Amino acid sequence: MKNFFGVIMMFIKNVEKPITIALLEALIYRLKQPPPRLEAMLKGLNQGFRAERELLYYLERARVFKEDVFLLHDLRLPANGSTFFQIDFLLLTPLCAFILEVKSQPHYFIFNPAANQFRLENNAGNLVSGNDPIAQVEEQVDQLRWWIAEYGINHYPIYGIAALANPRSTVIAKSNPEQIHQKIMHFPYLKKRMKIIQTEDPKSKVSIPHLKRLAHALANAHCPPRYNWCEYFEVNTKDIQPGVICPNCFRIGMQRKRYSWYCNSCHHISKNAHHDAFRDFFSFFKPSITNKEARWWLQLDNRFTTHAILKNMNLESSGETRGRVYYPNLQTRR
Ligand SMILES: [Zn+2]
Repeated sequence: MKNFFGVIMMFIKNVEKPITIALLEALIYRLKQPPPRLEAMLKGLNQGFRAERELLYYLERARVFKEDVFLLHDLRLPANGSTFFQIDFLLLTPLCAFILEVKSQPHYFIFNPAANQFRLENNAGNLVSGNDPIAQVEEQVDQLRWWIAEYGINHYPIYGIAALANPRSTVIAKSNPEQIHQKIMHFPYLKKRMKIIQTEDPKSKVSIPHLKRLAHALANAHCPPRYNWCEYFEVNTKDIQPGVICPNCFRIGMQRKRYSWYCNSCHHISKNAHHDAFRDFFSFFKPSITNKEARWWLQLDNRFTTHAILKNMNLESSGETRGRVYYPNLQTRR
């Protein structure tokens, strides 16, 4: 909880490094020769994440909100059937909700709603692949409306805005400019737009306890992506090197010394560097591990040390002694 200028900004789902970035970083450290496309992908994802954190600092500084606000970052909710929709920022205030979709590319966003057209161009005027951010955020508004109605909140306005992080990005509206510029803007213009919305005559006001329950219900409904990560990143499991990654210098191959891990390269000592290693195994290989597999993966030669580590991880398990299989728990099941 954060108190600033008399308004409470409550983080229901905090700004954390997305799992896709954490796994991609680990994968790059684990590949002998990471392909440049993965490095480029990581650069793009990090740029997006940096922009999201910048937006948060902006919202905190800018005194955008008149009333208490509940904030959820990187929310992924089931849509109809087997699909999901993802929201960068959801801000719930007693008067209305804001969905902010952050865009960090330095591109030209060219809209022509009269002709149902959208183009994304780079500086050289070449077409770049990318979705229409306004259509994207409007779809999120539609999907979220259903969820909010489910929790018994009706007549609650939801506003979707695409927020541009990069000062070099440009919006061009070839038709309906007023409508376009209300839905996509650079960070410094968000405050004015959001303040205007908050001064509109509210049909009703949602009470803070009701809003808080909704915020928690949405956070609990969050479904982190569970892809087949090797397929997702297009890598072969046989290229992934086992070992514990040093959290300080990111070299692979920490050594077990009594109750901790030691890095030969930077002499860093870590008590729980193996936690991320288990996360990596469950993500890149399979959602279960045996003592033998864990020995290989952590590069240990002692089955009793491995057993002690597995036991301390509080993993789910089935079977007895040598046949025991361990499964991810809440910490490793991200
Ligand atoms: Zn190190």
